[in-house]
Amino acid sequence: MNWHELLFGDKSVSFLLEIALRAVIMFLLIFLGLRVAGRRGVSQLSIFELLIIISLGSAAGDPMIYKDIGILNSLVAFAVVFFVYWLITKLIENSDKIEDLLEGEPMYIIRDGKVSKEALKNKVLAGDEFFASLRFHSFSHMGQVKAAILETSGEVSILPFKDDEVKPGLPVWPDLLHNKYKVMPADGVYACYKCGSTKQIAKNEMAKCSVCKNNDDWVEAISEVKK
Ligand SMILES: [Zn+2]
Repeated sequence: MNWHELLFGDKSVSFLLEIALRAVIMFLLIFLGLRVAGRRGVSQLSIFELLIIISLGSAAGDPMIYKDIGILNSLVAFAVVFFVYWLITKLIENSDKIEDLLEGEPMYIIRDGKVSKEALKNKVLAGDEFFASLRFHSFSHMGQVKAAILETSGEVSILPFKDDEVKPGLPVWPDLLHNKYKVMPADGVYACYKCGSTKQIAKNEMAKCSVCKNNDDWVEAISEVKK
């Protein structure tokens, strides 16, 4: 058995230093990528858990199947990834500013029953995931929601209106949500398909949403209270 190849692959000992540097660079690059990609799709897993899994995934697997990669090569990458992770958690523990920068801040999606500016800007409602969260918590329309916050974990925390405060709102269940109108079939309160803001519109009228600006698809608002 060739011990040098088992431990170092076909590289020299000094290559371990280069691996340490590569691991730091890759860890930071992946972190930046995940941070830019945003929180969506990362829910359930914190960004750091995901980061560790991605960073270590290849380092753990490659020496198992590639002859030219030694076990020590991987071990150095492991050690460095855990060291950078430890360093970042220490930084986060010691500074709220660094915590916000690295983990992101919770973001209001709904504030006082209205879509927040941040949510409009980040197109949070455009994705169906927010509606899925509302359905999961047995909400049937947006008028039942006083406030909703997208947590840094990717999960949505929701504060309901009291029964007597519920307003007409955009339904979040697909059967009703997909009944869109450009020309209204009757007088009534309609909700913007894109942002959920509501408006009284007369029969046979058309309207543009004044909140999100470029939408003319409307859905009949419903006003039932949360069960
Ligand atoms: Zn709108």
